[in-house]
Amino acid sequence: MILHIDMDAFFASIEQAINPRLKGKPLIVGSRPDKMHTVVCAASYQAKALGICSGMNSREAFSICPQLQFVTADQSKYIWTSEQIHDMLKIYGFRLNYASIDEFRMDILNHPQPTALAEDIRQRIHSRFNITASVGIAGNCLLAKLASKLNKPNGIAIMDDSNLEPILARAPVDKLCGIGKSTNILLRSLGLETCLDLYLKSPQFMQRHLGKAGLNLYAGLHSSESFQEEPLEDNQPKSIGHSYTFPRASKNPGFIKAWIRLLSEMVAARLRQKSLESSCVALWLNSPEKGNFSAQKTFSRATNDGYEIYLKTLKIMAKMSLQTPKIRALGVSCQSLSKAEYPPLLIEEKRREDLIQALDRINERFGEHTVFPAVISLSRKMQ
Ligand SMILES: [Mg+2]
Repeated sequence: MILHIDMDAFFASIEQAINPRLKGKPLIVGSRPDKMHTVVCAASYQAKALGICSGMNSREAFSICPQLQFVTADQSKYIWTSEQIHDMLKIYGFRLNYASIDEFRMDILNHPQPTALAEDIRQRIHSRFNITASVGIAGNCLLAKLASKLNKPNGIAIMDDSNLEPILARAPVDKLCGIGKSTNILLRSLGLETCLDLYLKSPQFMQRHLGKAGLNLYAGLHSSESFQEEPLEDNQPKSIGHSYTFPRASKNPGFIKAWIRLLSEMVAARLRQKSLESSCVALWLNSPEKGNFSAQKTFSRATNDGYEIYLKTLKIMAKMSLQTPKIRALGVSCQSLSKAEYPPLLIEEKRREDLIQALDRINERFGEHTVFPAVISLSRKMQ
């Protein structure tokens, strides 16, 4: 059984938790500080109730609600909170991974009381961070994610054999993760309106009309397989990665690179926490026009230095020969992990390692990303 934990209006809720003056008020988090010329990248539930949603022009949001509260996005704060939640969830001892910055998947096997477990998780998150989460429980990742949306915000939903079909019959197809605008139109033209219509189709039908994506969707709906990553506390993971989805697709190479750098630094910090190094890095990108693509590159020597990881990802990007790609989501992951055992041999490397260790200690003490490479601040300037 998979438990999908999805934070409610994550960025906006964190801002409200930090600043009580914003609690209970309609609030938007803007990509840029200029509040009339930016895009809403998160809205509090009070703002959502008025019809304000992420991706909306801020001017439009203010015309709906002139009293709207405004905060500029601070990704490092959200990422830090996300990592703290991830670490907290590890204490349950189940396989765990990130589905995105504000979503986590846990394989709870045959836990006898999944709903009680989900409630315990929600309470812990709330008492420590003063923000709420919704949890979906189902037999696989795709259905668990769908379930997490059913009683949002601040709710739990479980999907099992007793209620699966009626729930799917009420959910429109585009509620399923991975079904975008064009697939939705295609499915509706085939007469498939609800998730149940889709669920009852054969793999042959799915392949005929949707190709490989159709087969993947079929597998996603019917499989009982768990996710791939396995960060069991004491076991060495096979890969460590981080990904991020932009509020809207970006074409700005500086912005995209700043995010790749931030993700590289986050992955490197996690490698160092576990005393691991990697000899292979992979970059994954999602473009609204070209879909998903990924590639990997091997290092001549294993590393856990964020800058080195970043340089490799840039080489991967150059090789992908993307002419000003529009990017919606991206991820950096390190594979071929081994224990970091050998101290650096060259004096320059030793100096660099001392510097990295000092930065890690500062960040450990004062919060993740108190000190970070200057280029990362570009990632705060959305678009
Ligand atoms: Mg969320």
